[in-house]
Amino acid sequence: MPAVFSHQFDAPTFKGKVSFSTGIFINGQFTDGSDGTTIDVINPTNGKVITSISEATAKDVDTAVDAAQKAYDTVWGLNTPGAQRSILLTKLANLMEANADELAALEALDNGKTFNWARNADVAGSIDCIRYYAGWADKVVGQVSETTEAKLTYTRHEPIGVVGQIIPWNFPLLMMSWKLGPALATGNTIVLKPSEFTPLTAIRMCHLIAEAGFPPGVVNVLAGYGNTVGNAISSHMKIEKVAFTGSTLVGRKIMEAAAKSNLKNVTLELGGKSPNIIYDDADLEQAVNWAAFGIFWNHGQTCCAGSRIFVQEGIYDEFLKRFTEKARSLKVGDPFAPDTFQGPQVSEIQYNRIMDYIKSGKEAGAKVEVGGERHGTEGYFIKPTIFSGVNPSMKIVQEEIFGPVGVVIKFKDQEDVIRQANDTVYGLAAAVFTQNLNRAITTAHRLKAGTAWVNCVNQLHSNVPFGGFKQSGIGRELGEYALHNYTAVKAVHINLGHQM
Ligand code: NAD
Repeated sequence: MPAVFSHQFDAPTFKGKVSFSTGIFINGQFTDGSDGTTIDVINPTNGKVITSISEATAKDVDTAVDAAQKAYDTVWGLNTPGAQRSILLTKLANLMEANADELAALEALDNGKTFNWARNADVAGSIDCIRYYAGWADKVVGQVSETTEAKLTYTRHEPIGVVGQIIPWNFPLLMMSWKLGPALATGNTIVLKPSEFTPLTAIRMCHLIAEAGFPPGVVNVLAGYGNTVGNAISSHMKIEKVAFTGSTLVGRKIMEAAAKSNLKNVTLELGGKSPNIIYDDADLEQAVNWAAFGIFWNHGQTCCAGSRIFVQEGIYDEFLKRFTEKARSLKVGDPFAPDTFQGPQVSEIQYNRIMDYIKSGKEAGAKVEVGGERHGTEGYFIKPTIFSGVNPSMKIVQEEIFGPVGVVIKFKDQEDVIRQANDTVYGLAAAVFTQNLNRAITTAHRLKAGTAWVNCVNQLHSNVPFGGFKQSGIGRELGEYALHNYTAVKAVHINLGHQM
């Protein structure tokens, strides 16, 4: 029998008891994994075990795929009108809203992000995303291309069937919602693996999915490790599509597994090293605030984090002074305290990785303007950190750190900054700050990135596509674009009497 997770929250931001089964979710049932093993879920605030959850295995992936295929063939897919799928998605969104504080509290406990950001960004954005795709469910239609007396030609946008989805730990519920929304709206059935570091909201969502009335087998959620469950999904012969969000390193493995198995369709949302460009005519105070939000929001564990901050030489000194002051003022601490901006990094592994990057920056001769060390004495807290005096060959300039660590780099003019900004293997997002419209637009257009923000950063909307150029990914999530990831287009030709 899967363990029941019970926890009494007693924080200023959330008081309440939660209690739910932590099994893997296959065919509408919570069960133990086939090996009966468990995974400890760790609280990053203090390194202590929160609970143990059932661990799925490759064998469980087979069982889940069979359940998903059966549901697809009998009660979902082409058997269910879009309007019905829309009703179920709307019910799910309503249930998420009714339980929004609990979901935010679980996210804060498990991931370490602040309750307030979890509630207002992760959970609110997730509800919005599911509602957005509920709106699409009865509007995904093909086209009629030819209607002569002799011929009728049209396309059907059919669901793909059983799809695999593998998500990371940095926005657990949001990434799950970005995946579930378009896949369910278009009639697919799902085998999803949350990150082993942050499975709690995904498991809680299974209870809400069942309560909303989705038929058993439509959504199956298997918490487990990447090299077992993740690999079983990406190499499964009966899964026709895999959608992945995570690191570029693992993205390559997913693609390789897909290529070596059944050549399944692959979409990848990967890492970044996004440039944030501040011209000398920018509103300085706004630029400082946005730049801090760009790199320090979600503790720097944001794929589109503005981690390379390019500042034009005329304002460089003033910007650096104010940016450093801003970083120093950000409150680091208990994720449940109302005034905390930054909680702990998600895990000891991530904490050590980031501290290694900080060490490498120091050893390479970069200057620590602020931070550069741990915060407090327990848990995985790192002070907001800014480096200056860097050069392009340094690891802290080239590689995704995925922590609260930004590098500030001086530039001369537009040509200089575009060259430097594009000098990366990544191409996820970019931002430009200026009051000059022409400069804003020409810079945004010349940056090699899937998203360009002008005078803002980290803007994500359910109806606006998001995804990467270069090694930041393949395909787009969100908006109408994401629907294409989950439909197979069939062209039908009908001869209306034309003789051979
Ligand atoms: P990760 O790549 O380590 O893991 C992501 C998921 O893949 C996890 O569920 C993990 O268990 C699984 N996995 C690991 N090895 C696997 C394998 N061999 N086969 C199949 N699955 C496997 O990434 P992470 O550390 O969880 O997340 C951080 C990374 O995610 C960062 O690089 C970040 O930029 C990226 N990310 C990108 C976006 C985006 O939209 N582009 C959004 C969020 C995070």
